Formats: sequence, C-alpha cells, structure tokens
Amino acid sequence: MRVIQLLVLATISVLSPAYAGTHPVLNDNAETSPIGRLFEILVDDSANLRPSEAMVSTGYQKALLDVPNLLPTQSAYWLRCSITNETQDPSTYISIPYADIDELDIYLADGDDITQIAHSGRSIPKSERLGNPVAFEYKLPIPAGGSMRVLMRIRGFKTMHIPAMVAGEGVFPQARAERNLLLGLFAGMMLVLAMYNLFIYFSIRDRAYLLYVLYIIAISLAQLSYLGIGPFDIIGDNAYLNARSSLLFSLLAIVLGMEFQRRFINTKRYARGIQRWYPAVYALIFANMVIYLGIDPWLGFNIGNAICGLTALIVLATAIISFKNGSRQAGFFLLAWSVFLTGVVIFVLKDAGVLHYTLITAHAMPIGSAIEGVLLSFGLADRINILRQEKERSQVDALTAATENARIIRDQNVILETKVTERTQELQRSLNDLKEAQSQLVEAEKMSSLGQLTAGIAHEINNPINFIRSNIAPLKRDLLDMLKLLKAYRAQGASAEVAALEQRIGVEDTVREIQDILHSMEDGANRTAEIVRGLRTFSRLDENDLKPSDLNDGLKSTLSILGPQLRDRVKLSLELGDLALVECFPGQINQVMMNLLNNARQAAIKRHGETGGHIKVVTRQEEDQVVIMISDNGIGMTEEVRARIFEPFFTTKDVGEGTGLGLSIAHSIIERHQGHIDVQSLPNQGTEFRITLPNTQHMPQQKRA
Ligand code: ADP
Repeated sequence: MRVIQLLVLATISVLSPAYAGTHPVLNDNAETSPIGRLFEILVDDSANLRPSEAMVSTGYQKALLDVPNLLPTQSAYWLRCSITNETQDPSTYISIPYADIDELDIYLADGDDITQIAHSGRSIPKSERLGNPVAFEYKLPIPAGGSMRVLMRIRGFKTMHIPAMVAGEGVFPQARAERNLLLGLFAGMMLVLAMYNLFIYFSIRDRAYLLYVLYIIAISLAQLSYLGIGPFDIIGDNAYLNARSSLLFSLLAIVLGMEFQRRFINTKRYARGIQRWYPAVYALIFANMVIYLGIDPWLGFNIGNAICGLTALIVLATAIISFKNGSRQAGFFLLAWSVFLTGVVIFVLKDAGVLHYTLITAHAMPIGSAIEGVLLSFGLADRINILRQEKERSQVDALTAATENARIIRDQNVILETKVTERTQELQRSLNDLKEAQSQLVEAEKMSSLGQLTAGIAHEINNPINFIRSNIAPLKRDLLDMLKLLKAYRAQGASAEVAALEQRIGVEDTVREIQDILHSMEDGANRTAEIVRGLRTFSRLDENDLKPSDLNDGLKSTLSILGPQLRDRVKLSLELGDLALVECFPGQINQVMMNLLNNARQAAIKRHGETGGHIKVVTRQEEDQVVIMISDNGIGMTEEVRARIFEPFFTTKDVGEGTGLGLSIAHSIIERHQGHIDVQSLPNQGTEFRITLPNTQHMPQQKRA
C-alpha cells in the first residue's frame, strides 16, 4: 500500500503547477486546512546544519503540496515559513497530526533570536522530548498582530507526510477529540470483531477464525502505530522499536492476512499455483524485518514498501483467481480487500492534495481496515454455513464409508467362514488320516505280535508233528509184519496155554483197535500239520513283498486259525471258485479276511446265540479281478452305523469286545491294493461284504517278489 501511496504522490507532484504561495495568516476567518504549500523546503544532506544556518540558507525550494511528502533519505529536511497572527489572541498553535515522523524539531525566530519550541518524534525517547507529540500540536507564542518565522527540522527513515495546520487556541483540541472518538470507535470495533471471532474459534476450532483474530489484532496495531499509538509507547519508552512499529506490524499483518486468506478461501483448492509462492513471500518479509530492525532502516523501509505493494497485488490476484474458480468465500474477501485498498487510495489522494484533508480522509486507512474487518467477519459467519454443509457432506460420506466397510467386513466374514470350514475339513481329514495311521500302527503291531506268535508256534509244532506223521507209516508196516508173524505161529498150532491167553486178550479185537488208533493218530497228525501250515500261511512274516498269491489258500488258512471258534458255534459254507493268482501282500489280505470273518461271527452269534448262525464265503474270478463275498445272517446294521463303519475307532461293541479298528484297516488295505470294499446290510437280517481285488497291481514303486 505504501508503494501505491508513493506512486500516486509522484504522479500528483509532477502534474501540480509550481505554486508561489504567501505565508499563512491567522485571522478570524482562517480555516484549519494543511498549509504545506506555504513552506519552503531545504534538503540538508549532511543532516548537521544548525538552526541559525538553516534559517539563512538559500537552498530552499517552494513546497508543491498542501501536505508535503518527504521521502526517506539519510538527509534532514528543513521547512521554513512566516506566520502572521492577525487575531487578538496571542496563542497560536501549529499542529502536525502525522505520528510517523522520527525526528521533529520546531524553532521560532524573532529576528536573530531563535527559540526551540519542540523536540520530539518517534525516535526520540519520551524523557528527551520537548512539546507534546501525542497531541500533535505545539504552541507558537506569536503576539497578536505580530509575525514570526517558523523553522522545522524533520528527519526519518520513513516517508513522512507533513499535514501542518495553524490555528488559534481551542481549535485543535476539538479536532483531537474528534480524532480520539474515531480512534476509540476503531479500536472498540476491532476488539469486538476479534473477541467475537475468537469465541467462534473456541467453539468450532476452525483455524481460519484464529488467523482472522490475529490478523485483526496485527492490522489494528499497525493502524494505531501509524496514528501514533504504538504498543511500545504503552509498554515502555522504547524509542527504537517505537519508531519501527508501524512497518513491523504492517508486515506482520501481511503475513497473518495472507495465511488467513489461504485458510479462509482454501487457496490450495482454488488458486493452487499462486498460493505456492506464499512461503517465499513470508521468507522475504522475514529477511526484510532483519534488515529493517538490525541493518539499515532506510533500505528496510523501502523494501518493506515494495513488499507491501507486491503482496497487496498478490493477495488481490489470489482472491480474483479463487473467485473465478468458484470460491464463494473469495467473493467476501475480494470485497473486503477492495474496501481496504480504497481506504489506502483515499488516504494517499488526500496527502497528494487531490482530496481535502478531513477527519474521514485523514483516517481513511483505519476506516478501510475496520470495514474490511467487518466484511471479513460476515464472510466468516457465512463460512459457518459452508462448514455445516461440509460437515453434513462428510457425515454422509462417513456413513457411506461405514456402510461400505460393514459390507466388506460381512463379505470378509463369509470368506473367512468358508476358509475356516475348508480348513476345518482339511483338519478333520488330517485327523482322520492320523487316526487311520495310528490304528494301522496299532493293528500292525498287534498283527505283527500275533504273526510272530503263530509263526513261532507253527515252527515249534511242525518238527514234532512231522516226526509223528512220518513214523506212522513205518509203524503200520511194522505192525502188519508182526501180525503176519503171529498168524504164522498160530498156523503151526499153539499150546493150550497160549490158546487160552489168546482167548483172554482177544487178539482179533486188539489188532483192529491198534489199526483204529493208528488211523486216528495219522488223522490227528495230518490235521495238526494242516493247522501248522495254516498258521504259517496266515502269519506270512517272511512275505513283506508284493507277490502273486492264491487267495483261496489265504482264506483257508485264516479259517483254520479261527476254526474252532467258528465251527463250534456258526455254520460255515464255502464256495471257493477257481482263482487266478492275485498280486498282493498276502499277510495284509489275510488280516482283512480275519477281520471280516470275526465281525460276521460276532454278528451271527449276537443274533442267533449258539445255534442258527450262518456265514457264507464265496470267491470267484471275474475277468481280471477276484471277488470275495463274506455274508452272515447276523444282527445287521442301521443306516447310521453303516455310514460310519470305516471310520477309525468307530464301534458299537462293548469295551474289550471291539476296538473299532478292524474295518478301517480293512478299507485302507483294500484301497492300497487298488480294490474296492462294499457293504450291504439290513438290521436283523444280515450283512454282506464284497471285496474286489485286481489280479495285477499297477504299482511300479512297490517291490515285487
Ligand atoms: P469292531 O469290530 O472292533 O467294533 P470294526 O471296524 O471291525 O470294529 O467294525 C465297526 C462296526 O461295524 C462294529 O462295531 C459293528 O457295529 C459294525 N459291523 C461290522 N461288521 C458287521 C457285521 N458283519 N454285522 C453287523 N455289524 C457289523
């Protein structure tokens, strides 16, 4: 805004005609308007002329403006004019209501007599001041009807406007009262806006409100500083900071204003390109603050002015772009910002002499700031609606998202359940496999012990029984020889004593009895040999390899092991067909037969007791496979039992009577032989197991005998 000020002033200065004014005259009709044009101005480059030297210097130039505009240089300015008091009142006052003058000295010359009547300015500590800088007015003791020369020395590192006015007693206090009222209004209004929006910030926690409050505070402090009420005045007597406060607070207000704009308009969305440069502007401002405060205030002030102008344009451009892109908030901002800029322009035009110096034009900037603050506050109030709409939209979004999440979770649950079911089934299968493996181990161990036992017994009995069998024939032959001999003796005639003995013994009967005994011995020995052979076939411990076997033989041997248990209580009928050899593990197939026959026997006895039970075993060759059927007329099975009989450890029998392993083992053995085992059963009628086994195995990995 400072740049705009300067630009406007420069233009006006060039355009204004050279004005050869007279000196101000105070009479009863005098108006209080700036008398700048009546001054002569001297630029004191060395800045160390003394008042007496300055008073007589010839380098003065006529001022061109009502409110002279002194650019920031290291030089000092001297302003000179004569004032005539045509009133009857000896109290004349000069007022310069511009606070941002760094050094101001006023001298009054009466002939060669020069008196200093003011020594003040922002850079002068309060303790050293002469006159009353806060009231901006200094008494000039010009006697009624007299005329005196006034000399002012002005110096500073800022652009300084000199709205000098001359009036009699009582005029300036009136203006001051009006100005104070305006200031009070301004400060009060800004305070209310800040408090109101601070309250809203605490309610809804939207940072835009907090930034607005900070911006309002900073801009108020900047404006008050321009008007001579610097916070460093209030806090203490820090002339150094005090002299710099107006630009410092302006720069701070710019940063906060830009941040507020970003948040308020949502520039990220509406003016993405331009707002990316904001941090660079902040960095520039920070760097300039360092220069202004610590290095070179003249340079800092000029850069500061440039920054003010540049940022005013950037902020304006951002607002316009955002507005064009559809930001409703940008509309409010644009309006508020335009009002503020208008205030700046009015202020500048007033200093340039285009507009009259009035209370309003003199305070156009604070008024513009206040209206800007109010308009922005309206915008913030409107923002609540937008926030509410956004909140509602986000609630709807959240609800949609939650519903979607719920659906996904439901779907995932279904998938999970399916997976759990699959895994459970897999686990169940593994468990069954394990159980089966366990049962096979148990049974294999059992069968192996049984096999070893039977093999041992068979081996032990085999030799003695062979002795017996092989000795029976020679014994028979020897006995026949003895009988032949006996007959020969009898043919030669025996003595009476021998005949009586023969009579008493009953030789004929004895011979018959001996033959019977021999016959039954032979029979018993043969049967024992048969059992031993059966035992050996059954155990087949030596046969762990796949080898072609006669299944009828295997069956017979198994039956012979079960023999007495079966034959004594159950009727057994065999229909053994002609079978081709079956490639198998004979020991395992025998085990299957044994399990099936045992179950059939138990079921038949359970239903019929000691008599009436019947087991039928049928074998036959069907093409390239052998069929074995074992049926009984036992208790049969219900459908539920039938469905589970191949499960390991499934039994309907009492403890000690069954383990529930027999059929599961049978099933796995038959499967291993690439065969099938089926069952048909009806409760209280009977059961039939049907096994088919291929004659040849297709198991390359198996060891063949
Ligand atoms: P176990 O005989 O030790 O119980 P199995 O696996 O051999 O075990 O038999 C499982 C079940 O099948 C038996 O408990 C029985 O209920 C049924 N079962 C097997 N064979 C017959 C059959 N011939 N008649 C009736 N039920 C039978």
